[in-house]
Amino acid sequence: MKNPVQAGLLLITLTALGVIGYNIWLYETTPPDHTYTSFLEELKNNQILKVHLHGQEITGEDTAGRSFSTVTPEVSSLLPLLLEKNVEITADPVSTGGTGDYIKSMLPILLIFGGWMIFSKMQRKGSGGSGKKSSHLVQVQDERVTFNDVAGIAEAKEELMEIVTFLKHPERSSRLGGRIPKGVLLQGQPGTGKTLLARAIAGEALVPFYSIGGSDFVEMFVGVGASRVRELFNEAKKNAPCIIFIDEIDAIGGKRSGGNATGSNDEREQTLNALLVEMDGFRSGETVIVVAATNRPDILDPALLRAGRFDRQVTIGLPDTKGRRQILDVHVKKVAISPGVELDAIARSIPGFSGAEIANLVNEAALMAARKDQTAIEMVDFEEAKDKIIMGLARKNVVISEKDRRITAYHESGHAIVGLFLEETDPLHKITIMPRGKALGLTQQLPLGERYTYSREYLENRIKILMGGRVAEELIFHRLTTGASNDLISATDIARRIICEWGMSPALGFIAYNQEQDSFLGSATISKPYSEKTAEIIDNEVKRVLDECYFEATDILTKHNKFLHNLAEILLIHETMDSEEVDITYRRYLKELKMEKDIIRQQKEVFS
Ligand code: ADP
Ligand code: MG
Ligand code: ZN
Repeated sequence: MKNPVQAGLLLITLTALGVIGYNIWLYETTPPDHTYTSFLEELKNNQILKVHLHGQEITGEDTAGRSFSTVTPEVSSLLPLLLEKNVEITADPVSTGGTGDYIKSMLPILLIFGGWMIFSKMQRKGSGGSGKKSSHLVQVQDERVTFNDVAGIAEAKEELMEIVTFLKHPERSSRLGGRIPKGVLLQGQPGTGKTLLARAIAGEALVPFYSIGGSDFVEMFVGVGASRVRELFNEAKKNAPCIIFIDEIDAIGGKRSGGNATGSNDEREQTLNALLVEMDGFRSGETVIVVAATNRPDILDPALLRAGRFDRQVTIGLPDTKGRRQILDVHVKKVAISPGVELDAIARSIPGFSGAEIANLVNEAALMAARKDQTAIEMVDFEEAKDKIIMGLARKNVVISEKDRRITAYHESGHAIVGLFLEETDPLHKITIMPRGKALGLTQQLPLGERYTYSREYLENRIKILMGGRVAEELIFHRLTTGASNDLISATDIARRIICEWGMSPALGFIAYNQEQDSFLGSATISKPYSEKTAEIIDNEVKRVLDECYFEATDILTKHNKFLHNLAEILLIHETMDSEEVDITYRRYLKELKMEKDIIRQQKEVFS
């Protein structure tokens, strides 16, 4: 908000929306910067454009557009001169308070009259004194953002809709004794729209939004961060219901170091502690929801995630093809695009793009088109913009090669198909080749209900499904990749437990051969409470179980090779398929399979 006019307009817009966060200005006072004599002089020389009277205090603007303030010893004698010089006069009732009060009581009127006058003054003065810290601490959103501005992440939006309801009707939510959540942690890669979402929550609920970046808390001097936290929460509580947004919370919320704290760690720890104390100290009736964002949830201090703190965690993934199309829609609305632009095709061609990168793509394309003096953005502009961005990305190692995508698509399809052809197993929930963290893809099964016991068949089926990924890669690409290493670790773990823990192996019987893991002085030692000979039998048994499962997975995927190709190709286009979409493909395959069999049978009948 460098521009005073913007600041004024902003405040007015916010009032209109009922989102008022005037805190920035309340800390300011305006000592007069003109002597009355110099003011009179300017007035006589026709250099004053307008004044605002508040008792004896005068603020205004000169003909050069500069604002000023002064104090008059007596108003009534001044008025005739003001009128004579054609100065625009506004005024408001006198209050008895000091200068701080003065600003406060003036606010409503300032909003209506060219309010930016006084703000310009404060803005200029804001470079020093207590006002600076506060305005830096408490930021008001400069433009209302709603869920309509956030696209392609429907699941996250749905989860956050609940928070909006809490903010809008706190009484309704707590009527039955339900506890309103205090903290929501948004986690996801950079550019996935975490900040945008946080602002949208405030925009939807029409509540004030206090935002601070994690790094703002961390100052050189111990105690500053902690006092900022307290200040922020005090301010917020006064204006509840509202949202406090802490961006990059990992800057203060990283795991605490324990013994070897250095100076800066000390400061961080104090800040984090202050935050925890504040969050724990909310009373009922204070509907302040703390929303935090991070792209490093793994390094967060577990204390932050405890119940009553950030116990809601919403993960925001990279958008899939459909999601990217929706985000494109949001952003192309702001520019002129030619009817020849195929948004679907663009969405398909930018796998791995985040929301921010898509926004950037549209922006770059618009710049390209403008440079060529076009009236609308053409498909080629998008292509050029895309190349430019991807080239930049490739350096950052974000983009997945086409080959890796293919292998991943077959790998994940392999998991899914093995699962589809097994009886006792959890239903498929989702299958995706969207990279997430270290994984290039993911096949998710969701148990229908909670399971407490597992049959041997169920467990072995799990192993077969885990093997499915590796098997598919081998069948199609005739080579092995490291992509299946996690699957193999899980499979081996299950197999070992089938044999050792659950006593399901006939060769070993019902004895539980537990391996106990001790963590002593950091190094794990494994003690085996059985003989070397037994260990050998165990190893053989584990290998036998794994081999059997591997063969069965190979069997299924060989038999349904066509389906594997089919599903993988669809996955390459859609990137994410839910259970219903997989089911449609599956049933279509079964139907074709039946038709094929019928044809073969008919042919046999004809020839025999
Ligand atoms: P993050 O905080 O996760 O790093 P931001 O919220 O700052 O990401 O996103 C940066 C910009 O990218 C947003 O202002 C918006 O223009 C665009 N953007 C990101 N995600 C989305 C989305 N899901 N829908 C629409 N625009 C998005
Ligand atoms: Mg952000
Ligand atoms: Zn896998």
